[in-house]
Amino acid sequence: MARIFNFSAGPSTLPEAVLLQAQQELLDWRGTGMSVMEMSHRGKHFMAIAAAMQQDLIDLLAIPANYRVLFLQGGASAQFALIPQNLLGNRQVASYVNTGAWSTAAIKEAAKYCQVDIAASAEESGFSSIPDQTNWQIDQSAAYLHFTSNETIHGVEFFNVPDAQGLPLVCDMSSDILSRPEDISRYGLIYAGAQKNMGPSGVTVVIVREDLLDRASASVPAVFNYRQQADADSMLNTPATYNWYLLGLVLQWLKQQGGIAAIEQLNIRKAQKLYQAIDNSSLYQNRVDKRYRSRMNIPFVLTDSALDKQFISEAEQHGLSGLQGHRMTGGMRASIYNAMPEAGIDALIDFMAEFERRH
Ligand SMILES: *Cc1c(COP(=O)(O)O)cnc(C)c1O
Repeated sequence: MARIFNFSAGPSTLPEAVLLQAQQELLDWRGTGMSVMEMSHRGKHFMAIAAAMQQDLIDLLAIPANYRVLFLQGGASAQFALIPQNLLGNRQVASYVNTGAWSTAAIKEAAKYCQVDIAASAEESGFSSIPDQTNWQIDQSAAYLHFTSNETIHGVEFFNVPDAQGLPLVCDMSSDILSRPEDISRYGLIYAGAQKNMGPSGVTVVIVREDLLDRASASVPAVFNYRQQADADSMLNTPATYNWYLLGLVLQWLKQQGGIAAIEQLNIRKAQKLYQAIDNSSLYQNRVDKRYRSRMNIPFVLTDSALDKQFISEAEQHGLSGLQGHRMTGGMRASIYNAMPEAGIDALIDFMAEFERRH
């Protein structure tokens, strides 16, 4: 069996140790004689798995006691619609910062439920930067301010927590959650689909400050009502049990790596190496404002785009997959989440240099 280096944006590579443990426990979870997949979600074995998983997330992110953690379904995309429905309360406006494709998608969904105020937009720069935060115009009548901490497609990332000027700050952290320490107390709500940096698809983590739980409109379906799910420990209905278990394994693995502060150092090193290789070449180019270059998703183009197809196919032959850029942007993209080992970056850099020499 040969495992390749998988640079996919999501679903994305998982730690090999996690996959091996899941394989080992697949038929018989710790002497129970059954797979986690087969367990009742209300039975004591699964309840223990769920409790440990939640506690590990709380520990890793240092989530304060006045926050609740929900594990929902429907992906981050469902949250685009559920956030306004749960948080508007008696307000009619929500404020959004537009820094790329995912912010744009969140705005489009929110506009079905409220009046969207655009506090700032990077659209004019082709989403290659973040608008100067001192110039943001945040509507003070808004129920919250929403931003996307890492634009997975455009490769733009925030390295500070924006000032929401007193409004609850809502963040789509789908592609950089757990990549670095966060001061959770700065946020009203954080959400993230698991399949970028946390585990397989099928679970969405929502971390929400308790005082925001009671603003939902009466028409919100029960399974999507934050208060009801919080009161039911995210088990208002049958949760994605096996995905919770896998998420739990990833969190244990993260703890073994030294936690988030340690993984951040590694992420910084991995990203720096790859950006340096791109900047030092004359064939490869990354066009994102250097202050906001993502550590997780690194898009790049070839100065001769006629070579794109060949680059992708030769990379595949070298065991480097998932490098094709998003259909919206073209070019290439290397997604280098926590689970991408440094050896994968080194192999990619070596291949890129060798490809450049030949062309
Ligand atoms: C992938 C992604 C989404 C969409 O996630 P789904 O789980 O497919 O709905 C939303 N926001 C960001 C930042 C993403 O990277």
